[in-house]
Amino acid sequence: MGVFSHAEFDNHESLHYFEDAATGLRAIIAVHSTVLGPAAGGTRRWVYASDDDALTDVLRLSRGMTYKNAVAGLQFGGGKAVILANERAPKSPALFRAFGRAVDSIGGRYVTAEDVGCSVDDMRYVREETEFVSGLPHDEGDAGGDPSPWTAIGCFEGIQAAVKARLGRDSLDGISVAVQGVGHVGIYLCRHLHEAGAKLFISDVNRDNLRMVTEEMPAEIVAPADLLFADVDVLAPCALGNILTSATIPRIKAKIIAGAANNQLATAEDGARLAEREILYAPDYVINAGGIISVAGEYYGTSSEEQVRADVGRIKDRLLEIFETARATGRPTNELADELARKIVAAGP
Ligand code: NAD
Repeated sequence: MGVFSHAEFDNHESLHYFEDAATGLRAIIAVHSTVLGPAAGGTRRWVYASDDDALTDVLRLSRGMTYKNAVAGLQFGGGKAVILANERAPKSPALFRAFGRAVDSIGGRYVTAEDVGCSVDDMRYVREETEFVSGLPHDEGDAGGDPSPWTAIGCFEGIQAAVKARLGRDSLDGISVAVQGVGHVGIYLCRHLHEAGAKLFISDVNRDNLRMVTEEMPAEIVAPADLLFADVDVLAPCALGNILTSATIPRIKAKIIAGAANNQLATAEDGARLAEREILYAPDYVINAGGIISVAGEYYGTSSEEQVRADVGRIKDRLLEIFETARATGRPTNELADELARKIVAAGP
């Protein structure tokens, strides 16, 4: 597959490929935009069926980060990294140190943090080799650490906003929510939803993660293949992307889709498909910005935990504005969010 002609290339500023013979590390770092600041976005470690799949993923995720950081009002451009997981390159301190050297070699144009398949601990090894990393252990009261709880708070409040906008309800008491993926973000989200009185339906391909939730709160387990089509009020995707497609959308029963997963829509047209079916879609990079807001506060050393909480609290307000404009104009929410993001980037820092 060509790089410049790739359907997802979208004027990336630079792409960086890394191989480290000693650890087996293979990674791609994509820098989509540094207009608003260093390109920031987490590192995903994943088993890809092919190098092309990894390239497609990193390009889509990195553009998404430009939009996410812009709409969240952060001094960050957009970038992302993927580590191609395979049995010859098991997770190890040496692998993450090698990745840290890769990040460092770009000289600060890219700032990393954890994403799917990586943890706070992994980032500590990255930090041994580069200062361009966030999402590290932090002192109490300071911003920082695992971004997932912040992402979950933003999603929870985003679900409240969507329920208000679409169902006219001020409370989640008795609202049914299907959570796809109960990993780092999903489990925190389940806790908030449960406390608010929501009825939970969960799926995951990892049994241990399912058990962690059901040992803590009532939740009905649904097979992964069925969860998207559960008869619920809200679908909260918190696993991987590309799940909202021309094939899946006609079968979705939920009236609201609001969750943490990046790149939920397979194509922009799928946003219009959801709007046609009157399914209210919370644009993924708007609702899931809580984590990167925490990462930014930590990286710039300018935020207390209290400030991060206040900034994450603004996610729901942004969503309510988008929902209201969508209602007034009949335009899909994803289109409105993309337009807003492009406008902010075009205006510059
Ligand atoms: P995670 O890896 O901790 O959790 C993902 C969970 O989904 C895992 O438990 C995994 O087993 C499960 N899963 C995988 N395939 C599945 C399937 N087909 N059906 C059901 N479950 C499946 O990742 P995370 O950090 O919780 O992130 C979840 C999503 O949110 C990702 O798309 C990520 O990019 C996005 N996101 C995360 C953050 C964050 O702060 N962690 C921030 C923004 C966006």
